[in-house]
Amino acid sequence: MLFGKKVYDVIVVGLGAVGSAALYQLSGKGKKVLGLDQYEPPHIYGSTHGETRIIRQAYYEGKQYVPILKAAYEVWREIEKNSGDSFFEIADVLMIGSRQNSIVEQSEESAKAYDLPYEIFDHKELRNRYPQFNADQDTWALLDKLAGYVRPEAAVRNQIELGSKNGAEVGHNELVEFWDAENYPAGIRVKTNMGDYITEKLIVTTGAWAKGMMQEVGVKLKPERIVQFWVKPKKNEALFTKGTFPIFLWNVERNLDFYAIPGLDTGQGICKVAFYPHGDHPSRQFCTPYQIDREVRDSDFDLMHKYLAQYVPDLAGQFVKSSVCMHTESPDLHPIIDFHPDYKNVCIANGFSGHGFKFSNITGKILAELTLEGKTDFDISLFGAERF
Ligand SMILES: Cc1cc2nc3c(=O)[nH]c(=O)nc-3n(C[C@H](O)[C@H](O)[C@H](O)COP(=O)(O)OP(=O)(O)OC[C@H]3O[C@@H](n4cnc5c(N)ncnc54)[C@H](O)[C@@H]3O)c2cc1C
Repeated sequence: MLFGKKVYDVIVVGLGAVGSAALYQLSGKGKKVLGLDQYEPPHIYGSTHGETRIIRQAYYEGKQYVPILKAAYEVWREIEKNSGDSFFEIADVLMIGSRQNSIVEQSEESAKAYDLPYEIFDHKELRNRYPQFNADQDTWALLDKLAGYVRPEAAVRNQIELGSKNGAEVGHNELVEFWDAENYPAGIRVKTNMGDYITEKLIVTTGAWAKGMMQEVGVKLKPERIVQFWVKPKKNEALFTKGTFPIFLWNVERNLDFYAIPGLDTGQGICKVAFYPHGDHPSRQFCTPYQIDREVRDSDFDLMHKYLAQYVPDLAGQFVKSSVCMHTESPDLHPIIDFHPDYKNVCIANGFSGHGFKFSNITGKILAELTLEGKTDFDISLFGAERF
């Protein structure tokens, strides 16, 4: 105790996808570790809920990610083994779009660079294999043979439980009100609604809530409202079940992708559908975690129905349920994973721009390595905090 404050080696603020991974990776290494979250993760208020997250290796977002993605698969398997839970599965995942300058071409670049197994086919073959799709003659698809999905809630829960088993302490429903890395020679002060702590090192992984902190260091993050819909097919339910219907991400127009994933817990043929607008697409809905409409509006429903009716017509049936989530966009759509620019005893990871779950376990590992060893062997040159 230091002036009535509990002392830790490392405190992790935020135990979502990334923070729970950091907690797990830091635990069991002889350090006194505390993880804090304002809610009780997994929860539905941030970016890590909704039954499924797609994992892929033929990565259109950049081939620099591939070694990290490969390592992520190994760690997902390790967490499954250590927890005895099963939450990761390989499944057909298609990137659909035009042949050139597209998610198809960019995914192929990564696949070729790392010799990953994939197939590319045109609209005829796409409809041949998957009659569920209504694709025009300019449409191509890349099948990533190492892709699949992870259940995000189970991943978070298991990493927190394993971290606790390994000796890390966890504070749920504990809001960090501020941290101060300047005025305490013994370390960093972390003040919450429940306690006051001193820590030697700090990791801040607060998702959409990181906007204010990042603004102070000149990085503009944009949290965005994303609706996840579960829909029941209008007909041919058997064609939309897991194992029959592929997961897909379809670039349907400039700056608009939409995707579907067969539902896991919702009943025969029900699929999850969501949109990923970017750039200047008019359907974008910027928000803050403090001001976000968690109800589905008619306009959300109309958008979903319009694109389903055009591209996957038999799926455009009855609305079952929805869940609102947040992406947090960085200026270049790559995350920030680095030391805090002003404090070398603080590490930060945020701005995952809607694609960070699949390597959140490795982000946690990188944060643990930066914190405990001051370096990592992963190539994080794309993710520097001072690049903007
Ligand atoms: C609908 C949707 C679909 C997606 N699909 C995919 C996909 O298929 N594949 C993929 O790879 N990625 C996907 N993503 C992106 C991915 O889910 C996110 O990048 C990832 O979950 C972000 O994790 P995080 O830890 O940064 O944020 P979060 O999980 O939101 O965690 C932040 C945590 O910090 C806590 N916190 C914040 N402030 C404080 C404070 N002051 N005190 C205490 N606690 C605090 C919050 O309560 C929260 O638990 C998707 C995102 C959405 C929204």
